[in-house]
This record gives sequence, C-alpha cells and structure tokens, in this order.
Amino acid sequence: MELKKIDHIGIAVHNLASAKAFYRERLGLAIEHEEVKGDMKIAFVPVGEVNIELIESTSEDGVIGKFISRRGEGVHHIAYEVDNIKDALKRLKNDGIRLIDEVPRRGAHGKKVAFLHPKDTNGVLTELVAKKPN
Ligand code: ZN
Repeated sequence: MELKKIDHIGIAVHNLASAKAFYRERLGLAIEHEEVKGDMKIAFVPVGEVNIELIESTSEDGVIGKFISRRGEGVHHIAYEVDNIKDALKRLKNDGIRLIDEVPRRGAHGKKVAFLHPKDTNGVLTELVAKKPN
C-alpha cells in the first residue's frame, strides 16, 4: 500500500457560501469544483497539490449535520491518495483496522473512496481516494 500524498482535507462548515467567500476573498484561493452529493454540498479549493473540501450538510441527520451539532464546524477528515484502493483496504482489514467502507464507493469527482474508522486511526476520520477515477 502506498500513500502518495494528501488528496484533500475535509472541513465541515455551517454555510458553504460564506465559507467559500472566506477562502476566495480572505485567503485569495479559487473555488475549482462544486457538487451536490446526497445531503452534502461540496466545494473544492485547491492549494498546491492538496484540496480543501468544504462540506455543508443540507440535513441535520446526515453525517456532516451530526458532526457539526456534536462538535461544531471544523476539520472532519483527511484523505490520502492511493494507487490501488482495493488492495489498500484488504491490507488494512487484515491488520485489524476497522473499515467504514468495506467496498469503495463513489466519492466527489467520481473517484472511488473509502473511509477508515476513526477509533483505529487516532481519532482522525481517514479517507482513501483512488488515484484514477476507474
Ligand atoms: Zn473527502
């Protein structure tokens, strides 16, 4: 398993429009890509090779909605790029790491993604992102 780089850092926000305004106007960054995924509105802000993934929940019962009501806005997860996501998951599972996604699912940009359980990752929700959108 090879982690090549951090693909993105996911940040849970109350309001995507005002978060985007902060990144654009105060930090001088460009919003590159936006999409709606289920009950999440997502915007990607590239910073060098890494993206900031701003996520607003449209439902209080969703993953991000619950996170914000428990802990407030803030860093939600860190995502690493891997060459082969299936192999990476197999190996981690064999090592006893609990997987939220046993099978990769379709994430933002149509890429395959899978989450590892934060109880086995020092409290940091960890996402793997397949390098190629296949
Ligand atoms: Zn993510």
